[in-house]
Amino acid sequence: MASKSNPHNNSALQVHSLSVFYGDKPALWEIDFELKQGKKIGILGPNGSGKSTLMKTIMGLIKPASGYVKILGEPLSNVRSKIAYVPQKESVDWDFPITVKEVVQMGRYKPNKLFGRLSKLDKELATKALEQLKISDLADRHIAQLSGGQQQRVFLARAICQEADIYFMDEPFTGVDAATEETIIGIIDELAAEGKTIIMVHHDLNSAQEYFDHIVMLNTRLICCGSTAEVYNQENIKSAFGSQLTILSEIGNKINELNYPVREAGESDS
Ligand code: ADP
Ligand code: MG
Repeated sequence: MASKSNPHNNSALQVHSLSVFYGDKPALWEIDFELKQGKKIGILGPNGSGKSTLMKTIMGLIKPASGYVKILGEPLSNVRSKIAYVPQKESVDWDFPITVKEVVQMGRYKPNKLFGRLSKLDKELATKALEQLKISDLADRHIAQLSGGQQQRVFLARAICQEADIYFMDEPFTGVDAATEETIIGIIDELAAEGKTIIMVHHDLNSAQEYFDHIVMLNTRLICCGSTAEVYNQENIKSAFGSQLTILSEIGNKINELNYPVREAGESDS
């Protein structure tokens, strides 16, 4: 628990009464929660529930109608250099004429001196990040010439070499192959072991329980925020994901209860 003298001690992210509108339609409504540092946190909710809007608002890309956000107990402008952001893949312009290495090295530019020169250390960190993501062989390739999994690795490499304290990632597993998902998970575990905070939008309910220490569930409103053990339950999932999913998961529970084989052993996938 946080100490009495400073209730936000060790705070990674505070979201206070945050509401965001597109036109007159609310995408987020009175969202309030706080997350501590050093955890792997999943932000879950169905399509259109406001997950990307929340990330963009936290990153200062969207102005809220009301409420505010603090990162590491500070306004965003004070802590930009401590934050890395991996946007949702479809929001990136893949035709931009730039190589993999250049994208990754962008992680080393400081917000206030965008056109400064890279030091030897900067270049070494970028090279190391390429190695960690297993894309050294793609360094000189144009980013448009990559598979979905490779593209995601490039953006993660850029985030890694920023040496941030908090990593925000919007659905890094969308459109990637299983090997990339495994690589990304390995890197996230390493970052968490170093005491970094990972805040990730994720839509796969099944893997969420395994991947995250803490979970925030959203559906325009906040459904829940807490340790995975506390909040990952039928009731919250139902509130966030709605009735259609409930039917599916009830069937899932029945099958588990009866220990009924979903598929006969040896039956093929094809
Ligand atoms: P998620 O990431 O959970 O799928 P989003 O935050 O992208 O959800 O979107 C939340 C809601 O806001 C959706 O209904 C979406 O259609 C709407 N929305 C998102 N971006 C815009 C935009 N630029 N203009 C208008 N509506 C938007
Ligand atoms: Mg989204």
